[in-house]
Order: sequence, then structure tokens, then C-alpha cells
Amino acid sequence: MTKAQVRLPKVATPPMFEVCDPATGEVIASYPEHGVADVTAAVAAARAAAPAWVALGFADRGRLLDRWRGEIARGADTLARLMNAEVGKPVSDARLEIVMALQHLAWASKNAGAVLGRRRMPSDLMTINQAATLEYPPLGVVGVIGPWNYPVFTPLGSLSFALAAGNAVVFKPSEFSPGVGEWLVRAFERAVPEHPVLRLVTGSGATGAALCESGVDKIGFTGSTATGKKVMAACARSLTPVLMECGGKDALVVDVDADLDAAADAAVWGALSNAGQTCLGVERVYVHELVYDQFLDRVLAAAKDVRAGSDAGAKIGPITMPSQVAVIRAHIEDALERGGRAVLGGLDTFDSQFVQPTILVDVPEDALAVTEETFGPTMTIAKVDDMDQAVELVNASRYHLGVTIFARRRGSEIAGRIRAGGVAVNAFVAYATIPTLPLGGVGESGFGRVHGPDGLREFTYPKAVTRQRFPSPLALTTFARTEFTDRIVRVLTTLLHGRIR
Ligand code: NDP
Repeated sequence: MTKAQVRLPKVATPPMFEVCDPATGEVIASYPEHGVADVTAAVAAARAAAPAWVALGFADRGRLLDRWRGEIARGADTLARLMNAEVGKPVSDARLEIVMALQHLAWASKNAGAVLGRRRMPSDLMTINQAATLEYPPLGVVGVIGPWNYPVFTPLGSLSFALAAGNAVVFKPSEFSPGVGEWLVRAFERAVPEHPVLRLVTGSGATGAALCESGVDKIGFTGSTATGKKVMAACARSLTPVLMECGGKDALVVDVDADLDAAADAAVWGALSNAGQTCLGVERVYVHELVYDQFLDRVLAAAKDVRAGSDAGAKIGPITMPSQVAVIRAHIEDALERGGRAVLGGLDTFDSQFVQPTILVDVPEDALAVTEETFGPTMTIAKVDDMDQAVELVNASRYHLGVTIFARRRGSEIAGRIRAGGVAVNAFVAYATIPTLPLGGVGESGFGRVHGPDGLREFTYPKAVTRQRFPSPLALTTFARTEFTDRIVRVLTTLLHGRIR
């Protein structure tokens, strides 16, 4: 059957769902709620387009992905305004998010061949007659399920790397940011019309669930840990592999010799930017007791000008998901009931979807604001006796996504003791912005990686190929093996391994 003859399932017109401006609650657009049949059709279409995409090879695919990158870059202003409309983030933050995502796309298109292409591997003494090669072919069709909080940077972490590796992709953006998802897919269609390998499905969690059941070859999931567990359970039924980029409860640590101005600036940006709706956002701060007061003064001075609003002067926007406001409120309430104090903001600063920055101190370590992902413009700041205690408290979380450390002398040493997918010393989330580095978590923050060589390999499978160059002097895997060969094997066993004590 030729490409033109591939029969795709017919589907009925789906119902629509509405997307609201988080600042006003007004409906701004509506999108199809794709059901099982639509998802099945999208996966079938992606699968039909995949072989031609694979056949291009790395260099040609890279050139086409570069066209997509150019298309996104040229439309960045429109895309940034769409991000602002759907999720409420300031347009300038949206532009920054776009360029960060494009840096990773550029790296993936340029380096996929070097990372995934066939390479010779050494054989050993027992297998010296074999030429060995390793390559990383694409999996086929990857389903990407994305969140709304970084609706460009986060899904592109999977889309760019899966496509560069040679996969076709079916993308399900969050129901809060379907327009941004659609824009990215339409930009691909304009840039690479001859290869319909990036397909869009929109809808709620049910659409994502259908994608998990659709027979795709992997799911790249980014979202909350709770949803991640559901995705994994659904995928387990068909042994579909999963990449899990889940939630976090990231900490920032300040040692006694830290640059306190820089640390306070990073804490304020890390906790409050994007209204705290950042998987890698700073939610807990541990400060050496000898510099605690100075640090707190600097944080308060830096945070007092950060205001949530939808006007041009507001540095942060609304809370995107209506349901999240209650979670943020519950965490602050719990902290205050357990003896914590709000030294900035607090419960009376909530106004509809706008939550003003809240800084909490004296909060016990078992309070919700310390243990659970708050996903709002809040942080707890706690005093520690020394860096041993800081490391212990940082690692005590069940989330292990990212950690920031401010220290002049011991930064690298402390970083070595932290259990997290990424650690940045003297800067906030630098590891997420360097294209050669992987991004991902440990524990309940998930597993698998986007970005860098690991991010490319994530959407492939390792394939080992050997070619016998000449018959082995020792015929081992044959029923014709002789007693002489067995004696040599015994000698080799002793020589190679038996002298180790
Ligand atoms: P959710 O877990 O609510 O949703 C993530 C995606 O999963 C959405 O597209 C959602 O659809 C979809 N979904 C919901 N239910 C199902 C289901 N049963 N099966 C399949 N898919 C489903 O996360 P949010 O969108 O609220 O994003 C915020 C979370 O993402 C935070 O926890 C944050 O820490 C995490 N995150 C992690 C990152 C990382 O790199 N580790 C990066 C960015 C965010 P719908 O929206 O339509 O319900």
C-alpha cells in the first residue's frame, strides 16, 4: 500500500470545550474535545507519516526542524501573546520561555546524528572476532502529554527530541493551553508541509488517557505526580514505556559565605516568577543561621515590588487553574495554624485568581507548605545550624527535581550530597538552560530525561548489531564444542577473573 492509499479511520465531529482567560474568566476560544476515535485516527496518521520521516536521516531531518525553529522564532510575538491570553504569564516572560525552548530545539536537530547514529563499539578478548556496532533507532510514534505552566518550553522538551530522533508525534496539550499547542503544531505544518509527523489532539484528561491507550510506542508525560501515576498505570496495561516529568518541591540553600544579594534575588525570582507555577520553582529555602536575618531582609526588599495583576506593571500574572487557588490557600492556612508567620502577603491578599507573594517563616517541616507542591507565589524560609542540616532537610522531601545552592567555598561539595535531577550553584536553574544537560527528576519527581544526549536517547531504543569478521578460534556456542575448548574456557575464567581477591 502506498502512502496515498493508507486508509485512516473516519471520525465524527467532536464536542467542543472552552478556554477562559485566567485573569477575567472570560471565554477566549473553544477547541475540540477529542475522543478515542480521534486519537486513534491521529496516531494512525502519524504512523503512516513516520517511515518517510525516518528515511530522511539525521541531517535532512535537522534541516527541516531548523525550518520549524525559524517559523516559531518569527512568530514569537504572536505566540507570546497567546501564552499570555491562555495562561496569564507576562508577555516578556513568555518570550524568554520561547527562546529557551528554541535553544534546545536547535541543539537536538544539530546533534541527533552524533548522539544516535551508528557507531563502532569495542569487543573484548573472548569476542575479538566480532565487529560490534550500536545505534539508537526511533521508537515509532510518541504521545506527548503536556502541562500548561510552561506551554512551550515543556512540551518542546519532548517534541523536539522525539522528532529529531526520527519519531512521529501525537501531542496533547493541557486543556488550559490548547491554543499554544495548536500554534506550535500549525507552525510545524507550515514549515514542514511534506511530512505530517506532528499531530495535535486537544481535550481534557480523558483525551490524554485515550492517548495512553492508543498503542503509541512511548508516552512523554509532563505534569503532576498524581496524574503521572494514572498515566503510568494506564500504560502498564500495554507495556507502553513512559517518560515521567512530574512535580517538585525544590529548595534553595544559602551557606554562611554566600553572596546574599544574589541568593535573595534568585530566591525571589525562583519562588515568584510565573506566579510560582513552576515545576522547578523555589518553594523552600534553608539559610545558615548566621546569615538568616540579613538574607530575609534582602528577600523582603526584593519581593515587596513583585505584584500579581494583569496590567502592564504587574510582574506576575494570575493563578491559571481556578482549583489551584484553594490549594495555595490551604497550604498557607496550615502553615499559620502550625505556628508559621507570614512576613509578606498572607491569606488576606487573595483576590479571585490573583495571589500576592507570600513569604512564610517558622513553618514546621511537616507542614503542607514544606511537604507538598504549592504551585503558587509562596516560599518558606527556615534557619539551619549548618549545611549538614540543610542537606538533610532538602533530601527529606519525596520530590527530587532541582535544587539551588548559594555558597562561595563549599557549593560543589554540597551539590554532590543533594539527591536531585539538577543542582545549580550560585544561579537559579542553570542546568535547565544548558542544551547539553539532561533535565528530569528522581523519586516522585519522575524518571527519564528531556534535553541533551539523554533526552534524545529517551525516544529511541538501543540496538546492538554484531558482524562476525572471522570464525572464532574457540567454537563456544555449538554442540560441537570440544573438551579442549572447555579446558581453555576454564583457564581463561581463572586468568581473567579468578585472581581477584
Ligand atoms: P496535570 O497533571 O494536571 O496535567 C498534565 C497533563 O496530563 C495535561 O495535559 C492533562 O490534561 C493531562 N491529563 C490529565 N489527566 C490525565 C489522564 N488520566 N491520562 C492522561 N493525561 C491526563 O498537570 P498540570 O497541567 O496542572 O501541570 C502542572 C504540573 O506539572 C505540576 O505538578 C508541575 O510540577 C508539573 N511540571 C513538571 C515539569 C518537569 O519538568 N518535571 C515541568 C512542568 C510542569 P488536562 O490539562 O486537559 O487535564
